[in-house]
Amino acid sequence: MPVATDFDEALLDRVLAGERISQEDARALYTLPLNELGAIADARRNLATPDRERIVTYIIDRNINYTNVCNVYCKFCAFYRTEKDDDHYVLSLDQLDAKLDELTAIGGIQILLQGGHHPKLDLDWYLTMLRHIREKYPHINIHGFSPPEFCHFAEVFGMPVREVLQKFIEAGLGSVPGGGGEILVDRVRDRIAPLKCKSDQWLGVMREAHALGLRSSATMMFGHVETIDDRIEHLQRLRDLQDETGGFTAFICWTFQPEHTKLRAEPVGSSEYLRMQALSRIFLNNIENVQSSWVTQGPRIGQIALKYGANDFGSVMMEENVVSSAGTSFRLQKEDIERLIRQAGYEPHRRNNWYQLVD
Ligand code: SF4
Repeated sequence: MPVATDFDEALLDRVLAGERISQEDARALYTLPLNELGAIADARRNLATPDRERIVTYIIDRNINYTNVCNVYCKFCAFYRTEKDDDHYVLSLDQLDAKLDELTAIGGIQILLQGGHHPKLDLDWYLTMLRHIREKYPHINIHGFSPPEFCHFAEVFGMPVREVLQKFIEAGLGSVPGGGGEILVDRVRDRIAPLKCKSDQWLGVMREAHALGLRSSATMMFGHVETIDDRIEHLQRLRDLQDETGGFTAFICWTFQPEHTKLRAEPVGSSEYLRMQALSRIFLNNIENVQSSWVTQGPRIGQIALKYGANDFGSVMMEENVVSSAGTSFRLQKEDIERLIRQAGYEPHRRNNWYQLVD
């Protein structure tokens, strides 16, 4: 266990006993040597998942980005296009079907369905898409949209977020991804994505979604213009909402991927990623699952992340467009994921969106 000062020893005793930590504690833990922080996060992972200590889960799903048209122009995004760009698109139902057929063929059970903030698609367009998927592919969970998209829908459709959520649920929406969280501190959001929904709006959508029975993930995209305190504040806001609703199933963090984006920031490396994931696992004592982000970090760091607080390897993700637009492109098959999990000393198990084992 870690070598520490007297103060740290008292803190470490509390952490290893499973106690909740304060922001001040988090700042102290952040300065520990990486391997020591990782060991503590690993111990907390075991406390959080006592009947699954030897298990690492993953899901077979795919990303489907129904449109790349977006009028939010986030500075960290290399994915969006305007309607004037030659390569802008909106997927047709036939194109959607082709992707869902491919997913079904490999045993997939979920889609991560997200898009840009298209200024012209109306409510009917979305309901038609959702009903179509629900009816034709009943075995596929629609893990769809994100809080910023729901804020955009509320504005374009001229109805409260709650009503949009209700209509989408009736049409087949099954759960909500935590996309667009970035850092839930408005000073940071104003610098990297000034036109995107603010922190309270993001949390407000999640509060409504959880109240309507949907479960969601929580995310953090870091390593750009934020400070360490901003990251800790972000974690605090997630933990507070989780105390209120209990609706977050998992937390996922990843680092800013700079290529082809307008944001000028020195990207952080893998050790910073592991450090923040470990700290997040310790801080978020009310969110059971933590996903490693092999999509941005690569398979090897994704594997090491299993010793830094993660208990889930994310998804096979047979299609990914957003991170790969920013220059990072890793691909893994189901067999690769299972091998990486086994090599790290765990049993791989497939899960659904609610973290129930399905194999
Ligand atoms: S991150 Fe999302 S909201 Fe921002 S520009 Fe890209 S597609 Fe649009």
